[in-house]
Amino acid sequence: MQSHKVQGLVLRRHNVGEADRLLVVFTDNMGKWTLRARGVRRPLSKFVGHLEPLMLTNLIFVEGKSEIGTLTSAQVSSTFEGIRSSLTKTTVALHLCEMVDRATVEHNASPTLYSLMVTTLQTLERHSALLSVKPAFIIKLLAALGFRLESNQCAQCQEPLERATLGFSAAAGGIVSGECARGAHPLTANDVKYIRALTSMSLDHIHRLRIPTTLVMTTTRLLDDAFSYHTQARLKSKALYEAFTPRFERI
Ligand SMILES: [Zn+2]
Repeated sequence: MQSHKVQGLVLRRHNVGEADRLLVVFTDNMGKWTLRARGVRRPLSKFVGHLEPLMLTNLIFVEGKSEIGTLTSAQVSSTFEGIRSSLTKTTVALHLCEMVDRATVEHNASPTLYSLMVTTLQTLERHSALLSVKPAFIIKLLAALGFRLESNQCAQCQEPLERATLGFSAAAGGIVSGECARGAHPLTANDVKYIRALTSMSLDHIHRLRIPTTLVMTTTRLLDDAFSYHTQARLKSKALYEAFTPRFERI
């Protein structure tokens, strides 16, 4: 049986058996794995406090014959207290975790996606501006999965964009214009600028931009559509995220 040493973020977990738990973990260099933590629900278990959602943990697990690995060691390395102490930030972070969970298959390594998750959680922890985190995350998540949204030329015909007829099409893969924009969601030049900033800038920089709330909300809805188009996923956490949006500016 092969043993692996990884760092991982718990995306989801559920109880099994008398005292065990199955954890769905996204790891730094082995992608997503389901791991069994034996006895974790016993009060004196060595795993207690090391395997909660929104924690980065150093893990050692053994790969057996089944698809599920067995945890032998777990040592928390970052608890993101700045997120966990805020219900609003926790809601945002869990929404992003569900996206990653629903958009990925098991045992498919993506160090890029792992580092995107870690930097996003660090940004969320440090900053109070929350609105642009989700749209930026979706664009970068889709890119990490191989669906890079086009924002520099027409996504449909690759011709230069025409300022007067800009639109967004999830099916075409980004911004379209001219004839290709027929039936697409219309965009202004400012919308396009914002989408380009989300695509090219780091989260730390995006958070400094002053973007009107309505523009962020519209763009977030378009990117939600692009996410569901590519992943076919309906996210359970989306309604809660939306319910918490009015609280973002009070943080
Ligand atoms: Zn076109």
